[in-house]
Amino acid sequence: MSQKDIDSRRRFLKLAAGTAAAAVLMNGLPRVARADDLPHLSESDPTAKALGYVEDASTTKNPKRKAGDTCANCQFYSGGATGYGPCQLFPGKAVSAKGWCISHTAKQA
Ligand code: SF4
Repeated sequence: MSQKDIDSRRRFLKLAAGTAAAAVLMNGLPRVARADDLPHLSESDPTAKALGYVEDASTTKNPKRKAGDTCANCQFYSGGATGYGPCQLFPGKAVSAKGWCISHTAKQA
């Protein structure tokens, strides 16, 4: 085997390793990033408006809100305690953990 052959084989192996690493990244990242990637629900969204959704529960003047109710403790919410996460009532959107809407239903213990 000539030195040239060895060099080109090395280049090929390097390329193959890089491609494998990229494939792992592409397969691994979306699953982790998906919840964060959802666009945030806007208060001006027609459905959000109809349900009186607010990004910060403490700002609503809606008398239906009970103290302490937020998306984070609503049964329709499946995100973390902070930030944003999915809500079954707004498919494809992420609501604020601190948010609230009139459909709030306390999580079952
Ligand atoms: Fe938040 Fe629950 Fe209303 Fe969804 S249904 S926006 S989680 S309060």
